[in-house]
Amino acid sequence: TQATFDNIKATDPKISAFLHLNEDQALAQAEKIDQAGISDDQPLAGIPLAFKDNLVTKDEPTTAGSKILENFKPVYDATVVQKLNAAKMVAVGKTNLDEFAMGGSTENSAFKTTKNAWDQTKVPGGSSGGSAAAVASGMVPAALGSDTGGSIRQPAAFNGVVGMKPTYGRVSRWGLIAFGSSLDEIGTMTRGVKDNATMLSAIAGHDAHDLTTSTQPVPNFAADLTAATNVKGLRIGLPKEFLAEGVNDDVKQAILAAADTYRKLGATVDEVSLPHNKYGVAAYYIISSSEASSNLQRFDGIRYGYRANDVKSLDDVYVKSRSEGFGPEVKRRIMLGTFSLSAGFYDAYFLKAAKVRTVILNDFKAILKDHDFILGPVAPTTAYNIGSEVTDPMTMYMNDILTIPVNLAGLPGLSLPAGFSQGLPIGMQLIGRPFDESTLYKAGYVFE
Ligand code: GLN
Repeated sequence: TQATFDNIKATDPKISAFLHLNEDQALAQAEKIDQAGISDDQPLAGIPLAFKDNLVTKDEPTTAGSKILENFKPVYDATVVQKLNAAKMVAVGKTNLDEFAMGGSTENSAFKTTKNAWDQTKVPGGSSGGSAAAVASGMVPAALGSDTGGSIRQPAAFNGVVGMKPTYGRVSRWGLIAFGSSLDEIGTMTRGVKDNATMLSAIAGHDAHDLTTSTQPVPNFAADLTAATNVKGLRIGLPKEFLAEGVNDDVKQAILAAADTYRKLGATVDEVSLPHNKYGVAAYYIISSSEASSNLQRFDGIRYGYRANDVKSLDDVYVKSRSEGFGPEVKRRIMLGTFSLSAGFYDAYFLKAAKVRTVILNDFKAILKDHDFILGPVAPTTAYNIGSEVTDPMTMYMNDILTIPVNLAGLPGLSLPAGFSQGLPIGMQLIGRPFDESTLYKAGYVFE
């Protein structure tokens, strides 16, 4: 643990992945673990990890990357935090993110811009950019992120690490600062597939605090990953829309190479189609912003964090605190969401988007009926230059065209390193049937 902090202090000035470190508590916890000893059934004991700063940690700062939560210290630990504490992992700190997880480059953080671990002129992706860069640069072997429309998978791809967005309902969201509650999922970011599988088993499962969690049993995902793991006989779908216009050639080639590897290992790869994929981004921004506008109502200047000075009335407290506390992207989404939900426009926007969501889910179901998983890229490009897209929200939104539909459908998606182009990692994505993360890990493990 001490070596981890020494390394973070040497490395993070270059990467800016962390918003907060808790060295004293971590060292004390490590000491306790040393004294108690580690048994064979505690594979994660003593291993350092970082939490995305939208996961609440008792008595430790939790900002969600927002000025409105500066100096906020929660009174409880998120379920996932409790579970990893119980597994004796050692939490070293909180990682940077786009404000309230809204963004794809971590540039929307109110506090700092995290850099890509491979090239510090490039974005680390987002919104879990801090977690991805912290793992990729070797500061921690594991981190948790959250994924509403790609926020685990895309930064994992941009940094060359493994990122799992589990099935909706697999992991408790209690203590995750909510963005889009019907889309949000907490997941694991690690250097390898097996580590990732071990951690997912530790955080998954039913939780009385989150009634959307499933009672499905949680497998020991890592147990199946052995030298004998293979993909022989599996049927893989490769949607033609995932290799269409807009996806860079270097990314396409990496995915086609992965498909070839699977074929050589005895799987079949068929071209399939997700005809309504192109409507995913539009539906997502209506649904996620609508849910966000409701979830963010609680930040009123009274209950948490930031409160404006010089106020004359109660309304003034709300308006001024929110105007000063939220950044521009968050305000944009609150306005979009409030509009979509308003009486006059609900049918035209929110309801329509909800219907599109079902159509997209049905596209996936049709493929997954006779395919074990879907293969494709995570993002259309590799990491881009810091500053190049942050002023152009529409371009930024379109980058998520390959990850967003997976959240709309509630399916598991695994992001894996698939090679490099000009020194930057390329990510491949495996999309599975509900609660079948196991097949994704097995298929990913053949590349480990
Ligand atoms: N980039 C997407 C957005 O801005 C996804 C973010 C996420 O998954 N949290 O909403």
